[in-house]
Amino acid sequence: MADTLKGACLCGGVNYEVADPEAMGYCHCTRCQRWTGSHLAGVVVAEENFTVTDGGDLIETYESEFAPRNFCRNCGSSIYDDLGGKYFVAAGLMKDLDMTPSFHLQVAYKAPWEEIGDSAPQFDENPPG
Ligand SMILES: [Zn+2]
Ligand SMILES: [Zn+2]
Repeated sequence: MADTLKGACLCGGVNYEVADPEAMGYCHCTRCQRWTGSHLAGVVVAEENFTVTDGGDLIETYESEFAPRNFCRNCGSSIYDDLGGKYFVAAGLMKDLDMTPSFHLQVAYKAPWEEIGDSAPQFDENPPG
C-alpha cells in the first residue's frame, strides 16, 4: 500500500496528500448519496495525516447535521467528509490509490437500485465498537 497518496479535484485547483491511509470502503448513507450522486467510496485517514498542498482557499465546508462536507467551490468535487478526528477522503480523486475496499457502512440506507457486488463486510449502520 502506498504510504502517501496524492489527490486532486476535477478542476485541478485543490491538491492534497494523504499519509498513512487506514482503510478504504464505502458509505451508503442518504447524506453521501445526495453529496456524491450514489455512495461515497472513501479512504479513512487521521485528520493530521491529511495535508492540502495547493488550493486550500478553494475548499468550502457545508456544515451538515453530522459530518461536515468539504468540497471544491470551483468544480464541486467532493473532497472529504469530516468524521471528527478522522477524515473520509473521496477515493476517486486519488489516481494511484490501490487499496481494496474493506467495508460497506450504512447499508440499511442504500439506494434500492444499488447492488453491492464485492465480498467486503456489510454493516447496517456503523461497525460495532
Ligand atoms: Zn476543483
Ligand atoms: Zn455516508
